[in-house]
Amino acid sequence: MTQRWTVAVDPKVCVRTGLCVASLPAAFERDEQGQGRARAESVPASEEVLEIAESCPVEAI
Ligand code: SF4
Repeated sequence: MTQRWTVAVDPKVCVRTGLCVASLPAAFERDEQGQGRARAESVPASEEVLEIAESCPVEAI
């Protein structure tokens, strides 16, 4: 069974760079205010998701 991770963006921390959305649009989207948010509560575990989370400049993911 594939491991799944819970993914969330803290809206109080996100500064709307759009980096996560540009890097992995399958997992992230912008909300009405332009903030990043996860498209689903959980995603299949992957290096890509981990890299995106680590590359958020304000550690909002
Ligand atoms: S990379 Fe971080 S700061 Fe930029 S939109 Fe995504 S969650 Fe927000």
